[in-house]
Amino acid sequence: MKQSRKVYVPWYLRSFQCAGAECQDACCGLGKALNIDQKTYKKYRKVQDPSFRKEIDRKIQRIRSGATDDAYALVTPSESGNCPFWNRDRICSIHKKLGEDALPGWCASYPRITNIINGRWERTGTLACPAVARRALLNKGPLVLTEIDEPNLPFRGVYGQLNVSHTSEPELWAGYIERTRQFVFSCLQSRGYSVDDRMLLLGFFCESLARVLPDDRAKKLPAIVEDMDSFLMEPKTLKINYHLPKRDRRNLQRDLLDTLSEFNQQNRFYQGFSQLLTQSFCGLDAGSNAKTKRDKAYYDAEGTYYHPLIQEHEYILENFLVNRVYNMVFPFMTPNPFDQYITLCLTFMLVKNLLVGLAAFHKEHIQVEHMVELIQTLTREEERNSSWLMNLKQKVIEGQNDNMAAMAMLIKC
Ligand code: SF4
Repeated sequence: MKQSRKVYVPWYLRSFQCAGAECQDACCGLGKALNIDQKTYKKYRKVQDPSFRKEIDRKIQRIRSGATDDAYALVTPSESGNCPFWNRDRICSIHKKLGEDALPGWCASYPRITNIINGRWERTGTLACPAVARRALLNKGPLVLTEIDEPNLPFRGVYGQLNVSHTSEPELWAGYIERTRQFVFSCLQSRGYSVDDRMLLLGFFCESLARVLPDDRAKKLPAIVEDMDSFLMEPKTLKINYHLPKRDRRNLQRDLLDTLSEFNQQNRFYQGFSQLLTQSFCGLDAGSNAKTKRDKAYYDAEGTYYHPLIQEHEYILENFLVNRVYNMVFPFMTPNPFDQYITLCLTFMLVKNLLVGLAAFHKEHIQVEHMVELIQTLTREEERNSSWLMNLKQKVIEGQNDNMAAMAMLIKC
């Protein structure tokens, strides 16, 4: 076996340091139940310190039915939503007493997300971690991965895997995956276009891919890419055929935001995200039923505060999207590429809309810190519990809006 393996990582993970007790939104408060693998659980059973052993027995439950090697026992969050091992000094007692190697796989790898794509190891960070979010989002250059060597030890916590070795034509399919991803990254980083237009181009690409039968995708990809590449080589004005008059184009956005607001009112969101949502809705007077009034507030804030901010800091939205497509192995995590595009579009629309609301709330004081905090808390809320995002998506599908015309209205209207 090789002594080391190559892993592709962005610059921001190379010298990443957890903020520890200083972190303002620590992962130990994520409110998630954590699976403990069998090996780690057995390590805990060997703890000699009687009081720590008792603590472990009290806070970790064996999974009695349907346990696997990876999900052998469970740590459930306390009522406050924090990990029960996170003590008053904001220090993890497992880490303190047993060291980093004894942490459950999820904690040991967080905030890193490791994917293996046809044998290529890639590692990016989640923007739910405030330290990652700042570094990843505020870098003005394009987000690229470069190679490092790491010891070839068994690894806990691979998030996504793609492997075409079992297919009848592995080389063809490996080329398909590589070329598709190349297009996705160049499209999202194509700075001759606004980020909105890049999202539209990506949508047209995913829509074209989805139109082809899955078995034919690898063979038909070159023609699709060739067609789309011409847009990247020479930026053009994109023409969108909206099916609705301008006054109705914001209907879908407004409906989705109202659903989000209902979730918030039922106290389903954690405090960090909930506060930003409240400010954003308040900025646009989103409690009002008067559509015209809300839309006027939206367009005013967009023109006066949002556009100037984005003109200078559009790279933050780009970094958000690029980091996300790395994390999600886009567009291969769902059988239909357009399906994963809808999720991406929804999160992009939320960031943009909520930011316009924050701009309306803070007016000339809106700044990049608000953008970073919004993206960080939204990602964290999604990691904590993504059912609200799935609900929004369901709403889009039920309303027969799972098409490019509707996505265009979510992106720009
Ligand atoms: S969220 Fe990030 S910085 Fe904060 S405690 Fe977790 S890993 Fe450290």
